[in-house]
Amino acid sequence: MEQSCFLIRISKFCIEYSGSTKNEVKGQEKTMAKKLQGKTALITGGSRGIGAAIAKRLAEDGANIAITYTKGADAAAAVVKDIERTGRKAIAIQADAADANAVKAAVEKTVATLGALDVLVNNAGTAIPKTFEETTLEELNLVIDINVRGTFVATQAALKHMNKGGRIITIGSCAGERILTPGLVPYAATKGAVKMFTQGLSREVGDRGITVNNIQPGPIDTDLNPAEGEWAAPQKAATALHRYGHVEDVASLVAFVASPEASYITGASLTVDGGTNA
Ligand code: NDP
Repeated sequence: MEQSCFLIRISKFCIEYSGSTKNEVKGQEKTMAKKLQGKTALITGGSRGIGAAIAKRLAEDGANIAITYTKGADAAAAVVKDIERTGRKAIAIQADAADANAVKAAVEKTVATLGALDVLVNNAGTAIPKTFEETTLEELNLVIDINVRGTFVATQAALKHMNKGGRIITIGSCAGERILTPGLVPYAATKGAVKMFTQGLSREVGDRGITVNNIQPGPIDTDLNPAEGEWAAPQKAATALHRYGHVEDVASLVAFVASPEASYITGASLTVDGGTNA
C-alpha cells in the first residue's frame, strides 16, 4: 500500500514536472529563436558576402534590418526580399562607407523608417592586395576611408540613437592582430585600428549599457576573398582547419554578440578564423 502511494506520488510529480519543463523548454525555444525581437539592426555593406549573411541571421533572430550598399542595388533588393519573407521589415540604402554624409544619412533613414537603432554592424570593408611599396595614395585613402573612417562616422551617428542594450559590432580581421601573408599592409593596419577603436569606445559607452565588440574573421569564402582565388592557397594553409570558413560562421558569432546573452562582453576582439591566429 505504502509502495503504491509512493509510486502514485512519484508519477504525479513526474507528470507535473515534465509538464512544466515542456512549457519552459517551449518558452526557451521561443525566446532563443527570437532573441532580437523588437530590435533594429543596421549592417553596412549588407548586400553580399558576410554582411548579407549577418543581415539574414539577425532577421531570423527577430530584428528588423537596414543594410547599406554601393553598387549592387539588385543584390541589396534580393536580401531585403529574403528578410521580408521571414516576416521582418527590411530596407536597403545606397551609402558609400567612404562618404561621411551618406553614412550619416543612412543611420538617420534607418531610425526614421524602422523607428530605432539597437545594433550597428560596421561590416563594409575592402582590401587591395598588393605590396605596400606599389600601393598608391588613392588606394591607401580608399582602404582607410572605408575600413576606418566609415566605421568611425557610422558609429558616431548611431550612438546618438542608441539606448541601454545597444550593440556596436565591427567586422575587423584576424589580420588586425597577426599577419601571416604579404600584400595586406594597409588592410591589416586598418583592421588593427578598428580593434583599438573597439577597446577605446567600450570604455566611453559602458555606463550607458552599450557594448562594443570586434569580430575578426579569418579566410571566409566571398567575392572579396574567394576560396579558389589567387590569394587563397597561403591563407588556407595558415588555418589550423586547412579550409576556408563560410559567411554563416561569422554571422552566428555576430548574432551571439548582438543578443542579450552577450551583455557582459565588451571591448573584446573575438576571432573566427579556423585557427589562423592560433
Ligand atoms: P564582399 O566584397 O564579398 O562584400 C562587400 C559588401 O560590402 C557588399 O555588400 C558591398 O556592396 C559592400 N560594400 C563594398 N564597398 C562598400 C562601401 N564603400 N560602402 C558600403 N558598402 C560597401 O566582402 P566580404 O563579405 O568578404 O567582407 C565583409 C567584411 O569582412 C569586410 O570588412 C572585410 O574586411 C571583412 N573580412 C572579410 C574576410 C574574408 O575572408 N572574406 C576576412 C576578414 C575580414 P556593393 O556590391 O554594393 O558595393
